Amino acid sequence: METDSCSIDTTTRTTDPDLVSRSSRPEGTIVDVNGIKIGGKEIVIMAGPCAVESEEQLSETATYVRAGGAVMLRGGAFKPRTSPYSFQGLGKEGLEMLKRAREKTGLSVVSEVMDTRQVETVSRYADMLQIGSRNMQNFPLLKEVGRTSKPILLKRGMMATIDEYLHAAEYLLSQGNTQVVLCERGIRTFESATRYTLDLNAIPVLKQRTHLPVIVDPSHGTGIRSLVPTMAKASIAAGADGLLMEVHYRPDDALCDGSQSLYPEEFGFMMKDLRKVAEAVGRSIHVL
Ligand code: PEP
Ligand code: MN
Repeated sequence: METDSCSIDTTTRTTDPDLVSRSSRPEGTIVDVNGIKIGGKEIVIMAGPCAVESEEQLSETATYVRAGGAVMLRGGAFKPRTSPYSFQGLGKEGLEMLKRAREKTGLSVVSEVMDTRQVETVSRYADMLQIGSRNMQNFPLLKEVGRTSKPILLKRGMMATIDEYLHAAEYLLSQGNTQVVLCERGIRTFESATRYTLDLNAIPVLKQRTHLPVIVDPSHGTGIRSLVPTMAKASIAAGADGLLMEVHYRPDDALCDGSQSLYPEEFGFMMKDLRKVAEAVGRSIHVL
């Protein structure tokens, strides 16, 4: 009987790029962020605001998500916004706030890098570098980030096929960085009831085709706060190695993605359910 969290069929795929293909590392990769192991039996919860907005907002939110059971803090200092007039992030000042929140809470930090010119700076502050959906095929950025020794969170392009996604991950590995985590975050479909369509199929498909850990972002995947806990549970049931979720201490005042951000108490309630689902599929939630 197969002991892995999903049944791995390594015989059916021969066309995936070499370095990411499951057959090149059938045992799977474990990505280590300051001792937090992503891709093993334990599920890793990353939570925090969409964007770093202020010292108080980040510090309060970080304290809440830590109390609820998150082990990593998310928060963008450089934000990819649809409109150039929307809040673009606090930049380096935001990175400084992330550093202080890490010192205060002990949470490791994941933050987005949008541009090759930011890689060095973000690397100095974040424990894990996030490449956002809109940059999944920014090949110069992939190469630059792939040359660092930092763990990488590569989000799926909102219009990318699994094949394109695996090739994007191959860019990172081709530069020598093996510490790559994939993140399904919803794709564009004809459906307009939700912001994106969370592709839960992607979890078992990716687990079959690549050895890289796979996490899910149900916040962007739905765009609707009330749907996040349900899709978070579904993601764990489907074999996700972790979750990336937006939580804000005051979602109604958020400068970015407030309507998909959980209230702190909702996050706490959801975490209780996630522990039960994890147990039901033979896993547990990583605790600090
Ligand atoms: C984010 O997680 O901050 C983000 C911008 O998400 P995405 O790149 O998936 O849109
Ligand atoms: Mn967001």
